[in-house]
Amino acid sequence: MTTPRIRLDRTQISVVVTCSACPHWAAFAWDDLDGWRVGRDHEANVHPGNRQAATAYAKAAERAGITPAPAIPAARLNPRQ
Ligand SMILES: [Zn+2]
Repeated sequence: MTTPRIRLDRTQISVVVTCSACPHWAAFAWDDLDGWRVGRDHEANVHPGNRQAATAYAKAAERAGITPAPAIPAARLNPRQ
């Protein structure tokens, strides 16, 4: 199995976040920073140990001059589980 990759599909006004290992999953974001944050949360909860989106989010936050938001646990992302 290949390593899951988080991908940002950008349009002029938004970003769709996808994961190469999870064709059933996608997320919406307004910009790259938010897209990498959402991807980081997916990665942390579904593919623990992978750091591609976490690294990209940390770099995007640094470029934006903000403190990275803490990861959201899966229990809060999927409250019915
Ligand atoms: Zn995935």
